[in-house]
Amino acid sequence: MSAVQKSVQPFLPFTRPSIDEETIALVAEVLRSGWLATGPKVAQLEAELSRYLGGRPIRSQTSATAGMEMALLACGIGPGDEVITPALSFVATANVIMRVGARPVFVDVGLDSRNIDLDQAEAAVTPRTRAIMPVHFAGLPADMDRLYALAARHKLRVIEDAAHAIGSQWRGKRIGSFGDLVCFSFHPNKNITTIEGGAISGGSAEELKSIELHRWHGLVKLGSDGFDTLLPGGKSNLSDVAAAVGIGQLKHLEAFNARRRALVARYFELWGARAPVRLPERGDDGHSWHVFTPLLPLTELRISRSEFIEAMKARDIGVGVHYPAIHLYSCYRALGYHEGQFPNAERVGRETVTLPLFPAMELRDVDRVVHAVNEVLAGARR
Ligand SMILES: *Cc1c(COP(=O)(O)O)cnc(C)c1O
Repeated sequence: MSAVQKSVQPFLPFTRPSIDEETIALVAEVLRSGWLATGPKVAQLEAELSRYLGGRPIRSQTSATAGMEMALLACGIGPGDEVITPALSFVATANVIMRVGARPVFVDVGLDSRNIDLDQAEAAVTPRTRAIMPVHFAGLPADMDRLYALAARHKLRVIEDAAHAIGSQWRGKRIGSFGDLVCFSFHPNKNITTIEGGAISGGSAEELKSIELHRWHGLVKLGSDGFDTLLPGGKSNLSDVAAAVGIGQLKHLEAFNARRRALVARYFELWGARAPVRLPERGDDGHSWHVFTPLLPLTELRISRSEFIEAMKARDIGVGVHYPAIHLYSCYRALGYHEGQFPNAERVGRETVTLPLFPAMELRDVDRVVHAVNEVLAGARR
């Protein structure tokens, strides 16, 4: 009996990319073409992304991490500068600030939105502040009107960590179709993928030139046989093989995100006001639902989060954690950050779990997850 159940209930991961046969064929075509590194497919992906984002300039690169670091460098941010950023994100958001020699100044997030607290951000501005790096957590846009008004008041550049937010909209406008420098990620876990990869949308002419130099050795071609290096650039140009994956993915982005919203609607419908977990802020149709991350009622439970994750695994359901609070990592404690500074980020960091959500899921998979969570939590109450 249980063997039969197993065969109809394969392991459900918390995420999985959807790659169609057309994309696989396009990758094969690129592999056979003799041109594998940056070439026509990268140009095509950048043009298609630009069209999707209202004609804005697009510069692709090998990851959002590389993109955010180059965006900071392009804004001239370095030693002695401060950048305001939320204490809850993937650690890359803060790491890139450290990597350019600047100081990350953390502020708390909303408990349910997980987005940057803009009152705290305003209070954290000092004469050294040069930029603000918000994260559109899970694809829920930060309050863009207040954010850009704050930036204008204090003459700050905004570098958006939009790793979760391709296809998200703020008041009907796509994230990345406006604003300063908007950095997307195309890691396989994100809403569309190029395997590894990312893209920056926006930037002034001068910033774009800087990004191009940092992306490729600082090199400029002089005629047909000469080169000059204008700055000690790195190397984070995307390959045509990766871009072919992205071209195939972009065609499905709207459908993928619609599917994510439908699956999340099912979670909300099944749990409603009687959820045994604390549900994240729902947002509206502009939410791209990169991840679905409720909070566990840990203080009411006899089990830890890791025991919850193990109990779900025993039911063939994968659960992730996005994310622990950044300021409590050793690298940031070394700057003087400590427990108690950002209560919401710390509580989310302790209690959050990422439940399965990806476009190939069926509504009945959501039913299965909800049933398993209800069962595990009912058996674990104090
Ligand atoms: C995934 C992610 C990144 C890093 O993206 P890469 O493309 O893997 O470098 C940065 N910030 C957030 C919030 C992310 O989720």
